[in-house]
Amino acid sequence: MTVLDELGLPGLPEALPRGIVDNHTHTLSTQRHSGLSPDDSIALAAQVGVTHLVDVGYDIESCRHVLALAAAHPTVAAAVALHPNDAALIFTREGDEPLEATLAEIEAMVPEATAVGETGLDHYRTRDEDGKLAQERAFRRHIAWAKRHDKTLVIHDRDAHTDILRILDDEGAPERVVMHCFSGDADFARACVDRGFWLSYPGVVTFGSAGSLREAALATPLAKVLVETDAPYLTPKPQRGKSNAPYLVAHTTRFLADLLGVELGEFCDAVTANTWAAYGGRWGDDA
Ligand SMILES: [Zn+2]
Ligand SMILES: [Zn+2]
Repeated sequence: MTVLDELGLPGLPEALPRGIVDNHTHTLSTQRHSGLSPDDSIALAAQVGVTHLVDVGYDIESCRHVLALAAAHPTVAAAVALHPNDAALIFTREGDEPLEATLAEIEAMVPEATAVGETGLDHYRTRDEDGKLAQERAFRRHIAWAKRHDKTLVIHDRDAHTDILRILDDEGAPERVVMHCFSGDADFARACVDRGFWLSYPGVVTFGSAGSLREAALATPLAKVLVETDAPYLTPKPQRGKSNAPYLVAHTTRFLADLLGVELGEFCDAVTANTWAAYGGRWGDDA
């Protein structure tokens, strides 16, 4: 019995012809969600050609986790931040000082990381005014860290497209910005591309209801396309509804190559090269 059978996880997709990077995953949340260990997340991904990962932190504990995992595995890069919904929760429950203390602790981890994120705004899950203020304050802080330390900025944007661009334009965006789990339409994709951002497409692009996201993908120059799982959520078709893990980005990759009319091997090469550009260079060896 394989680990996938034991945990009730989807089977391995056919291996990709060439390597690709899942540039946004949460191995700690994945372990909590499905029981799949971070080491198995990495190993199973490598079996189907997903050679590298960006593991993303969202609070102090998960940031420590991603830094430790990246230190132990050269093919993993770490992104550290306080997630906008966590910033809102801390501020709403405990006020100013705990939020500032948490931000200071995460800021101290930035030099060791490859990227700052995920940060941004979530107007879907955080609707109260205090929470929104806390998100904006934390977002502005993360933008400054990315610029000060020359790190890639990874943006979480849920129902907040206009405010995300307003704040980035106001602060001045860092040199490298990734719109993770891109969820806008073709016009918003163009607005992001005009600013030089990379757009990372999740499994959602495979969903039947995601017509405007597919139009956005078609409006995105191939040089700006990235792929991600955002595991353990947003599992692509044909495994939608099950728990997600980095190996399943192979489905999203095949779907996008087909949608964009690019030969699969060429698409993998392009997305991999885009990933190195978006994160300021290649990391690790091919495992
Ligand atoms: Zn996110
Ligand atoms: Zn995420």
